[in-house]
Amino acid sequence: HAKRNPEHKYVFYDGGMRERSGFTLGLESDLRRASGGGEFELHFQPKIDLAGNRTIGAEALIRWRHPVRGMVSPAEFIPLAEETGLIWEIGAWTLVESCRRLADWIQRDLPIPSVSVNLSPRQFQDARLVGFVRSVVESAGIPAGRLELELTEGAMIGDIEKAVTILNGLKDIGVRLSIDDFGTGYSSLAYLKRFPIDTLKIDRSFVRDIVKSTTDPAIVGTIVNLAESLGFDTIAEGVETQEQADMLRQQRCTRIQGFLISRPLPVDQFEAFLRNSVVVA
Ligand code: C2E
Ligand code: MG
Ligand code: MG
Ligand code: MG
Repeated sequence: HAKRNPEHKYVFYDGGMRERSGFTLGLESDLRRASGGGEFELHFQPKIDLAGNRTIGAEALIRWRHPVRGMVSPAEFIPLAEETGLIWEIGAWTLVESCRRLADWIQRDLPIPSVSVNLSPRQFQDARLVGFVRSVVESAGIPAGRLELELTEGAMIGDIEKAVTILNGLKDIGVRLSIDDFGTGYSSLAYLKRFPIDTLKIDRSFVRDIVKSTTDPAIVGTIVNLAESLGFDTIAEGVETQEQADMLRQQRCTRIQGFLISRPLPVDQFEAFLRNSVVVA
């Protein structure tokens, strides 16, 4: 974003100081309306264990079908929702809808061990979170261990004691916890060992160049070793090619998610994927 300052020079600034341009303002009021419901849907992307060629779960990814703009990417509206506080309502919808889908799949015997839901930093820090997750899981009637919450390192920096308390509160419910985009944030090893999490999700940036890079295989291998030492699982995100999957396997990361297996799918297509899932990788 560029903005004219009084001397007519352009200054650049980050999203935290986002300009209320016409575009953003329009989007903001539309988002406010959409948060009431109706325009959002969830797509689901499979997570696979290469070792057993099984679907181990799916990540719920929100989609906004805007009546005029068409599909608006979450990369565009989630940051705006965070800034405006609308993230609570949107996140509540996502969690309820994800649990409702999972309950339905369990009831219909579809082979889906777990569903993962993303939580952004402001949701994580909201005092209502733990109670809300507990009540949603209970009303959906799903085993808590079949719900996973994905958090970024950014959600947990700042007040570490507070973060640990929230994580323990979530863990007490029985849900699984993973750190999303792992390796791009600021987790120190001292903090990491205090987090009651289950999985490190290796960021796509380490997967993207893993075939050509001289360093990225070692970084992935180091994350896998670290996770093993701390008792966490690993999964790699953004896996697009068989060569990347092979390199990951060499580094003992056997859980993957990405376009190689499947794009995020609308519910009916995801259900078809589950019914036909013979994964060859
Ligand atoms: P994320 O949680 O790291 O999700 C992974 C993103 O990578 C998704 O983008 C997914 O569609 C994309 N992706 C998956 N496989 C591949 C691949 O092989 N190659 C490439 N290039 N991309 C791949 P999406 O759906 O656009 O979501 C972007 C981000 O928006 C997510 O990143 C997450 O941070 C956020 N987000 C999405 N849904 C929700 C939600 O319901 N709540 C919250 N709080 N955030 C969400
Ligand atoms: Mg995620
Ligand atoms: Mg991610
Ligand atoms: Mg990522």
